[in-house]
Amino acid sequence: MVDRLVNSEANARRITMVESCFGSSGQPLAVPGRVLVGEGVLTKICRKKPKPRQFFLFNDILVYGNILINKKKYNKQHVIPLEEVKLESLQDEGQLRNGWLIRTASKSFAVYAATSTEKQEWMAHINKCIEDLLRKSGKKAVEVHAAVWVPDSEANVCMHCKKTQFTVLNRRHHCRSCGTVVCGPCSSKRFLLPNQSTKQLRVCLNCFDKLSRDKAQQNSTNLNYLRNSLKDRSESSGDDDSDDDDNFVPSTTTPEQPKFY
Ligand SMILES: [Zn+2]
Ligand SMILES: [Zn+2]
Repeated sequence: MVDRLVNSEANARRITMVESCFGSSGQPLAVPGRVLVGEGVLTKICRKKPKPRQFFLFNDILVYGNILINKKKYNKQHVIPLEEVKLESLQDEGQLRNGWLIRTASKSFAVYAATSTEKQEWMAHINKCIEDLLRKSGKKAVEVHAAVWVPDSEANVCMHCKKTQFTVLNRRHHCRSCGTVVCGPCSSKRFLLPNQSTKQLRVCLNCFDKLSRDKAQQNSTNLNYLRNSLKDRSESSGDDDSDDDDNFVPSTTTPEQPKFY
């Protein structure tokens, strides 16, 4: 499929379209050999609540953004190299159905499709792209993945001390290592998590102890492959999940099926 599209006009046109929808808020996406494999809306579990996001699957990257105007304008573009992606199917749970985890070295999150068929399609296409990519490059799949953040709404008290009630003043924090919601005192420590940032990040006291022990044990482990995967990444302390905030909720509720080319 992908080979058929590589130098096709249709593919070039589609990629130009994606670029123009992101406008100046996005990065150039037209690269020799790159193919747009599919696109569609998925519900992404964000820190505050689930939100619709537009996803574009290319043969080497997964791009998503906030929807300003359906099919016309997107912003807050995120680009994930597929080489470091690992998918994990999620069991249906109440309202949350047809979901899976997208795990990467720097960020992991859950997404949900409208139907189980769409879930299968998405997962199959993404996995196929990852497979082809790793086979071509001869690289190994990245094995260290960032924790999936527990949504704010799932914790009214600190998940570490089980005492602190969260209020406007007692803010929730996320441990960057295990993803739990913890209070300030229970996440007062910082630790270097090289797959996520070059700066030290907030971790809970449990993780701080565990990471410190691990580090002492394997001080000399070669982390070069992680550093390599960091080269192109912009350096942020990751203190907020920037795609989380949007003041616009798309008005169209017509379910649109994803398209795969
Ligand atoms: Zn606490
Ligand atoms: Zn932790």
